[in-house]
Amino acid sequence: MSSAKVFVITGPSGVGKGTLIRGLLERIPELELSVSATTRAARPGERDGVDYHFLTQDEFERRVAAGDFVEHAAYSGNRYGTLRSELERRLDVGVPVVLEIEVQGARQVRETVPDAVAVFISPPSRDALRVRLVGRGTDAAEEVDERLRTADRELESHHEFGHVVVNDRLEQATEELAAIVRGVLG
Ligand code: 5GP
Repeated sequence: MSSAKVFVITGPSGVGKGTLIRGLLERIPELELSVSATTRAARPGERDGVDYHFLTQDEFERRVAAGDFVEHAAYSGNRYGTLRSELERRLDVGVPVVLEIEVQGARQVRETVPDAVAVFISPPSRDALRVRLVGRGTDAAEEVDERLRTADRELESHHEFGHVVVNDRLEQATEELAAIVRGVLG
């Protein structure tokens, strides 16, 4: 697979990866976001094929066995993964791709796509992360606790990635992220 222009945006749930990526895509329109597959239930307003490819457990397993994933991980009781097809159809025509994935998946991409550029998004504090996870209202209380426990492990791994952006002030963090991407795309 061409590994020319793959940008991996990783970091804990609730840190604002999605919002930062929206800002990044506005600033650098040639970038495209890979649509992940997941076994998690769609949240209200989420659309199949747009926000995620929503798969059953069986379908996800079948596609793992078929070698359809570049990376996949279990996260908070569900499966998530990047479909090879999402990357290839873009890279084959020279379109740079952004992946929004958790840390285990980002590690796998580091192995399989060694010159992918990884950016770890960090919260200004653990408290800020809790406030955001609770405030966005998408997850039940136990789910928030589970995500925070996972976040504690994920935060320890920030040094593994090439770049770290602290998402304190959104505008500034988006600019930092865009500067990293522009620096690579030239
Ligand atoms: P959520 O359930 O909040 O949509 O996503 C939970 C976590 O899974 C987030 O950290 C998100 O970035 C991550 N995630 C989304 N898609 C993928 C994927 O394709 N692979 C991996 N490894 N993680 C993903």
